[in-house]
This record gives sequence, structure tokens and C-alpha cells, in this order.
Amino acid sequence: MTTIFVAKESREGESRVAATPETIARYTKRGFSVLVQAGAGEAAYCADATLQEAGAEVVPDFAAGCARADLVLKVARPTAEEASQLKQGSILISFMQAAQDPDGAAAAAKAKASFFAMELVPRTTLAQKMDALSSQANIAGYKAVLLAASALGRYFPLLMTAAGTVKPARVVIFGVGVAGLQAIATAKRLGAIVEATDIRPEVKEQVESLGGKFIEVAPDEGAEEASVYAKEASDDYKRRQAEAVSSSVAAADVVITTAQVPGKRAPVLVPDVMIAGMRAGSVIVDLAVEQGGNVEGSEVGVTAVSHGVHIIGTPNLPATVPVHASELYARNVQHVVDHLVPTKENDELAIKLDFEDEIIAGAMAIHHGKVRHEGTATALGTTTNES
Ligand code: NAD
Repeated sequence: MTTIFVAKESREGESRVAATPETIARYTKRGFSVLVQAGAGEAAYCADATLQEAGAEVVPDFAAGCARADLVLKVARPTAEEASQLKQGSILISFMQAAQDPDGAAAAAKAKASFFAMELVPRTTLAQKMDALSSQANIAGYKAVLLAASALGRYFPLLMTAAGTVKPARVVIFGVGVAGLQAIATAKRLGAIVEATDIRPEVKEQVESLGGKFIEVAPDEGAEEASVYAKEASDDYKRRQAEAVSSSVAAADVVITTAQVPGKRAPVLVPDVMIAGMRAGSVIVDLAVEQGGNVEGSEVGVTAVSHGVHIIGTPNLPATVPVHASELYARNVQHVVDHLVPTKENDELAIKLDFEDEIIAGAMAIHHGKVRHEGTATALGTTTNES
């Protein structure tokens, strides 16, 4: 019988869980045996008893689950100690982020396990259901606006009261990917005036359709039409961008930065001189803080104050909305499991890894201890041929 193990997260502040009663019921209906580590869902308000009712067996610790599991489900990248307990040939489905911390991936390879890295799922229509980067970025964009609104000493909406009129807050958003779009929508719902900019000019329509104003920056001469992913900006582009945004940032009550370039350090888009031009009491939320930060002076886990401006560097915002973040992540993972174990109901369950399939080829970064993904191999100081 194919066995799935749902781990309890061990990293500080990680409150999400990789399976919910809904997905566990689905796994057991398909014929999987499901183990959950005691307390796995607690921080997402999902008691062991609820998971047992859905069909799971509770095991006392990580080692006990790994010893029996063919598929291990997790949210945050594993520690080296955790990954070293994976059974040879088992598959870990989790975020991996080897560039940020290679130890867990290295230990998984050493244990001759396989690692399906959720952040490496390709951005294709077929893989959309498995796209945890998007499901979680959406939450981060929403929560960033709420953090900013609660730290700001002003209202967001326009209010006309007997005591006078209150002007709406002005919000500027850098980076219009999944998080940026949700930040625009959330700030608009709260009544703010929203402007946004992105290195990919084609997102202008999306900004406008949400009621925002797009701050245009002329692309580099001869620049190729961007793909869905951003390329690193040239110094000349950064200079033109700073000019284009400076008056909007100086007038802003809130700035939210979400700009990232896959595989690279996040670009610094709000330098100290720009912060110095903002009003005291304004708020910046740097969603790229864990990738090096878009804002000069932002720090992971710290609210810094610079020139009277609050710079919020809270990491892992999806974990601050654990119920829905877990629900959506668990569904992403369930679609991955369905993809790796594609048998129909009542048929025998068998893991089938077709490396011609672009989702499996793209995201199975490590297979039976062999590192297949270039970026992971670089982070581990090896090559895809050597390992
Ligand atoms: P991301 O988190 O990698 O980056 C966020 C945004 O920052 C991007 O829009 C990027 O263009 C922007 N950016 C990077 N450098 C910048 C700079 N110097 N100045 C200004 N902006 C900069 O992005 P994401 O949320 O992963 O989304 C990237 C794209 O992929 C989006 O267009 C999104 O709609 C698309 N997407 C497609 C699918 C799919 O087809 N299934 C799934 C998810 C996302």
C-alpha cells in the first residue's frame, strides 16, 4: 500500500500544514494509507482528532512517519536533520529553496530520497492547480496591505464626516506579479488611491482593470518582449524607474514592494534617498525581504524606522493566515500527488514518474539521491552529472 506522511512543521513561525481533512479524506478514498505527525495541524486550527476522523493515523514523531512513508508532505524546506530521516526511494513534496539554505536538499540527496520542489512547478496552464508560489503569494499580497493599514496612523478610505473630510491614502506598489495584483485589489477595496509599476510593461492593463494607475517606465532600447518572468533590470532602466516613481513615492502613505527576479537576489528599488523623501509616519512593507529585499534598510523579522518611515520586514506572511494558506497549499499538494500517482479509483496505486512530463521533469529536483535540477546542483556545490 502506498503510504503518505504529513509532517508537523518545525521552523519557527511556520503555522501551515500540508494536508487538511479535505485532502486526507480524498487520499484515503483513493486507497492511500495516511499518517500524520501528532500536532501537525494544530497551528492551523486543525486538531489531530479532526485529521483522524478524515482517515489519518497519528504517529508520535517525524522519524516514525518517515520510516513508513512513500510520500512525505511538508510546507517549509526541511532541516538537514529531518531530510536525513527520509526513507531511501521515498519522495518529499515540499518547498525546497536550496539557494536560500541547501542543507535540507543535500541531506535528502544523501539519504537517496527524491525531492519534488513546490517552487519549481512550471508556470503552465496544466500545472496551475499545483502552483503553490501563486496560492501563497496571493495571501502575502493581501496581508501586506493589512499590515500596512494597521501600522499607518491614517485612514485608507476617503471619508466625509461632520468633523470634516479625510483624504484617501496613497499606495504605491512595486512589482505586479501575483502578490502585487492582490495588493492592488486589497488596497483598492480599502479605498486607497493605488499606483503600481513593473519592469514588464504588459501588466499595465491588469493594473488598470483593478482600478490602479500604472507608472510607466520606458523599456531599454532593443529589449526583448518579456516572458511571464522578469529579467534583471539594467542600471539605466533602474535610473529611469527611480525618476518615474520618485514623485509618487514622495506623496505615498504606503509603499509595498514585491519585485523579484527568479533565481536572483531581489532588486533594490527603494533606496535610502527615496525613503528620505517620504513623509514621517509612512509605511513600507518589503515582501522581498527574504530574497535580499527591495528596500534599503529592510531586515527580516524587524520593523525598522528610517527617516521616520516604518519599514516592515515580516517574513513568511502566508503563515500569518494559516487556515486558508494551508487549505490552498494542501490542494496544490494533492494535485501533485494525483499527478505522481495517476491511477484511477479502485486501480492499484503506484507512483509513476515520467520524466518526459514537464511538471515532473521540472520540479523533481532530486531523484533517488541524484540532483537533476541545475540551480539546485549549483546551490549544493555539485553538478547534475556528478551527483
Ligand atoms: P515574481 O514574484 O517573480 O516577481 C514579482 C514581480 O516583480 C513580477 O511581476 C516582476 O516582473 C516584477 N519585477 C522584477 N524586477 C523588477 C524591477 N526591477 N522593477 C519592477 N518590477 C520588477 O512574480 P510572480 O508573482 O511569480 O509572477 C510572474 C508572472 O507569472 C506574472 O505575470 C504572473 O501572472 C505569471 N504567472 C503565470 C502563471 C501561469 O501561467 N500558470 C502562474 C503564476 C504566475
